[in-house]
Amino acid sequence: MKERYYRFSTYFKNKGFKSRVHKVTVDAGFSCPNRDGKVSKDGCIYCNNQGFSQNARLASKLSVEGQIKKGIDALRRRVKAQKFIVYFQAYTNTYAQPEELKKIYDTAGKFKDVIGISIATRPDCIDAEIIDLIGSYTKDYEVWIEYGLQSIHKKTLEFINRGHLYEDFLKAVDLTRKKKDIKICGHVIIGLPFEDEAMMLETAKEMGRLKLDAIKIHPLHIVKDTELGKMHAKGLFKALEFDEYINLTVKFLEHLWPETVIQRMTADCPKDLLVAPFWIQDKSRLLRAIESKLAKENTFQARLYTV
Ligand code: SF4
Repeated sequence: MKERYYRFSTYFKNKGFKSRVHKVTVDAGFSCPNRDGKVSKDGCIYCNNQGFSQNARLASKLSVEGQIKKGIDALRRRVKAQKFIVYFQAYTNTYAQPEELKKIYDTAGKFKDVIGISIATRPDCIDAEIIDLIGSYTKDYEVWIEYGLQSIHKKTLEFINRGHLYEDFLKAVDLTRKKKDIKICGHVIIGLPFEDEAMMLETAKEMGRLKLDAIKIHPLHIVKDTELGKMHAKGLFKALEFDEYINLTVKFLEHLWPETVIQRMTADCPKDLLVAPFWIQDKSRLLRAIESKLAKENTFQARLYTV
């Protein structure tokens, strides 16, 4: 049966890869303009980067090359992986001068089984020169750039202190599309404070309209030592229940473009930093529940896509 959403593994199969391609997550030691004072000093209200990047704690100990090697070795051992994408994940991975970025991205080229790079950044942290640099890797690699958007709504973006607006995301997408081989992934969060279903689905419809190459849908989770954590402790904000997230994610999928790859719908957070919701820890259960809801309702990605 045709799958009900477009999986990343299917995307690689369609591209002719015989074995599964795995991401190797790297913390290249970047900062973020929303934390170092350039945009703001406070960061997004949910941000404790250690809670989002499993490698953040390793960064001070290992070089980028060391992290890639360690990641590849572990994936080869654990799941017999053969091909890899180096994923520059932590903080803002375009936040440096182009020469410095080049040195960092070039490290991926030292590993023969690396077939791609994926660069996570903020949409206000990109310019033509950096896009040219990233575009230069498309000759030899599968190249992805992941823009953190979270929501299209100004009210929400201001509340969570993102430090950019939806317009910045639109500009970044336009600029990136000038290099047609760079693939664009949008990152959104479901369950942001004071967003109702209608608002979340407006974000979904916009992501559909833009025909992004991929999307990551992330359940909002509360991490220790964050502003959101303080709000939660005072009872000012409640995380979504498991079933609420499943329902919203299924509805979100229905509005996306059929060719948008769903890169993820789960979240990672070290146990000792997670405040709520604890159901994010069982990722297989979460994915099974989404699949079973899609099947039960006989629905699928793009069922309501209208553009
Ligand atoms: S943009 Fe990312 S790294 Fe920067 S403050 Fe927000 S969540 Fe943290």
